[in-house]
Amino acid sequence: MSTFSAPKGTYDLLPPDSAQFLAVREALSAPLQRAGYGYAETPGFEHTKLFSRGVGESTDIVSKEMYTLTTKGGTELALRPEGTASVLRAALEANLHRGGLPVKLWYSGSYYRYERPQAGRYRHFSQVGAEALGAEDPALDAELIILAHDAYRSLGLRNFRILLNSLGDKECRPVYRAALQDYLRRLDLDDETRRRIEINPLRVLDDKREGVQRQLADAPMMRDHLCEGCKAYHEQVRELLRDAEVAFEDDLRLVRGLDYYTRTTFEFVHDGLGSQSAVGGGGRYDGLSQMLGGPELPSVGWALGVDRTVLALRAEGIALDLPRTTEVYAVPLGDQARQVLFRAVTALRREGVAADFAYGGKGLKNAMKSANRSGARFAMVLGERDLAEGIIQVKNLESGEQLPVPLDRVVAEVRAKVG
Ligand code: ATP
Ligand code: MG
Repeated sequence: MSTFSAPKGTYDLLPPDSAQFLAVREALSAPLQRAGYGYAETPGFEHTKLFSRGVGESTDIVSKEMYTLTTKGGTELALRPEGTASVLRAALEANLHRGGLPVKLWYSGSYYRYERPQAGRYRHFSQVGAEALGAEDPALDAELIILAHDAYRSLGLRNFRILLNSLGDKECRPVYRAALQDYLRRLDLDDETRRRIEINPLRVLDDKREGVQRQLADAPMMRDHLCEGCKAYHEQVRELLRDAEVAFEDDLRLVRGLDYYTRTTFEFVHDGLGSQSAVGGGGRYDGLSQMLGGPELPSVGWALGVDRTVLALRAEGIALDLPRTTEVYAVPLGDQARQVLFRAVTALRREGVAADFAYGGKGLKNAMKSANRSGARFAMVLGERDLAEGIIQVKNLESGEQLPVPLDRVVAEVRAKVG
């Protein structure tokens, strides 16, 4: 123990669990890399205004959850609470949209939100995200949903569901918004919710409280207000998903937290996570680029939570089949053996074989314990007598079988055994 502990709402990733985490992050991004998405990395902090404009002043993320700071030079910065605004900002700044469209990008990293910490809800968490910028094509919306679905499936997850909805566009959404406001203003609601009716009424539909939900039973629904264009678009997305055998549920109440979503909106929920059930979500955001001062750039994207995906694996009892970190473990007995064996370990590593060494002058018993703990398949044991005879004992740690191998052939032979 030190005098310090990790800040509230954060946790450390350490072996052995960190290997699972890393594998999840890789599995979530692998389908993107096979689908033409290029890697993007943006700073961990941005100008605060990017998020207040790009995520929306009325969202919980901006109004309650952002970590902000003023630099010594007086610049207002915020730790990034999400990825979309940053990635779009970066793409616009580099003029990527002047090239071929859509610009398809993926990213992965840490995000920060000042939330009430609980299982699956942290102040520092990790996401893998994808954005396809500059094309309005239902196949692109479908592609992203299919890629996330396939990523979860590649991990072996089964108990997740895809919730799907359309939020309309700049033609039909305002008409719906007004109708919804009309309805909501007549309800019995607290002051904060009343304010929300004026700023972002769709969010009220997302209120989790039962007293609010009960009053929403007869609320007008976006689906009944979709214009012909939005209706046809949504139907094509659904058709493409069905064609790809990706099951989804229509969720007419799904609005999501961010202001900038239009048309397709979706969420991935896992049924084994209690109230923090959303493992990922996203949608189309046709107006965001213009909100950031850019050109019209209809886009679609998602972000998947790595932390919650790890919890979902645990909930389903799935242990990922990870490659061994060590294949061969070297056990030297005596100083001279130590030098020879260390040379062999270095040579094996240079040949691409994962090898480790009994450091700290351990005795045979202790060193063999470390060898077993490392998960290695083979141990190379070298004592004084072996050395005099010019051989190394190569022991198969699974079968217990042991074979003497000539010193000058040991690297080649061990490499062949490991395969
Ligand atoms: P929630 O409704 O659970 O607060 P959200 O709508 O705020 O989620 P998004 O902004 O869509 O979440 O982020 C995408 C994903 O990132 C979520 O589905 C979730 O898996 C993950 N995520 C969001 N906030 C947190 C957090 N505080 N801790 C861990 N994971 C998170
Ligand atoms: Mg949230």
